[in-house]
Amino acid sequence: MTPSRPVSDPESSLDAHDIVQATAALAAHFDRLGMQFAPTSVASEVQQWREQFAIDASSPSSVVPARTAPLQPAIPEARVDSLAKTKAPTQPEPPNRPSTSTAVIGSSDTYPGKSLPVIERTDRLSEMAQMVAGCTRCDVLAKCRTRTVFGEGSVTPRVVFFGEAPGADEDRAGRPFVGLAGQLLNKMIQACTFAREEVYILNTVKCRPPGNRNPEPSELQNCREYFVSQLEILRPEYIVCLGLISSQALLSSTLSIGRLRGKFHQYCESKVVVTYHPAYLLRNPDAKKAAWDDLQMMLRDMGITPGR
Ligand code: URA
Repeated sequence: MTPSRPVSDPESSLDAHDIVQATAALAAHFDRLGMQFAPTSVASEVQQWREQFAIDASSPSSVVPARTAPLQPAIPEARVDSLAKTKAPTQPEPPNRPSTSTAVIGSSDTYPGKSLPVIERTDRLSEMAQMVAGCTRCDVLAKCRTRTVFGEGSVTPRVVFFGEAPGADEDRAGRPFVGLAGQLLNKMIQACTFAREEVYILNTVKCRPPGNRNPEPSELQNCREYFVSQLEILRPEYIVCLGLISSQALLSSTLSIGRLRGKFHQYCESKVVVTYHPAYLLRNPDAKKAAWDDLQMMLRDMGITPGR
């Protein structure tokens, strides 16, 4: 006779609910990466497993919800212009669950379309980068820039770092966060135990505003569909907003960093962490502790224990 397997082992720290949640989170992560996660190679059974996980994952938790949207191409006709019609994330709603530091605040929207395989992600991002390189939506920025700064990194990142706009160094290099603020960002990424190549780094605005002024509202609006499309392709588990400009743009919020940090927000299926911009941290080193607290909140949620 087959011995019956205990559903919950009192000696173990994991119970059946934990296991279901962890499995659902893993399945959702693989799903975002475009991988099929099921102990079968038969398509109909894979679908059955996905539906099973989607149901289990709906139990109360802070697990990112499984995607339930119908499968469609992520970028119809692969034209970024058409993405202007992509559903914008809604204004964060008041929390409707206990306001613990790990509860997720925001909309329950999902990324439109389906998660793409690596090769398609790479192709679409480079196609979009070329479009951005020729963009003339903002007269002033298009005339002032040396190079556009599209973004770079892994096309299947767990974490995306979302900055403001290129500075002088980035404008020359065509790459995000390569100046002094970039050096601090590199240290923050390393402290999280990541390599720069395994995250993705992008900015809210792809051209350097003259004199490093803040981007104008019209410039933020003109560039919005580029970052919306990038995130739709990347579908990261976490988006770390660096500073006020990216936080407010992503979350469609007018709140201050002080009000936004310290909790998870949601943008489609990604959990959003708000923290201080590295350039601000260079000017205000006392805020580094708070920024590290923000990153540690994410790391705990990811199941990562940094060495210090
Ligand atoms: N600051 C940003 O917000 N982005 C960069 O790429 C560089 C500095």
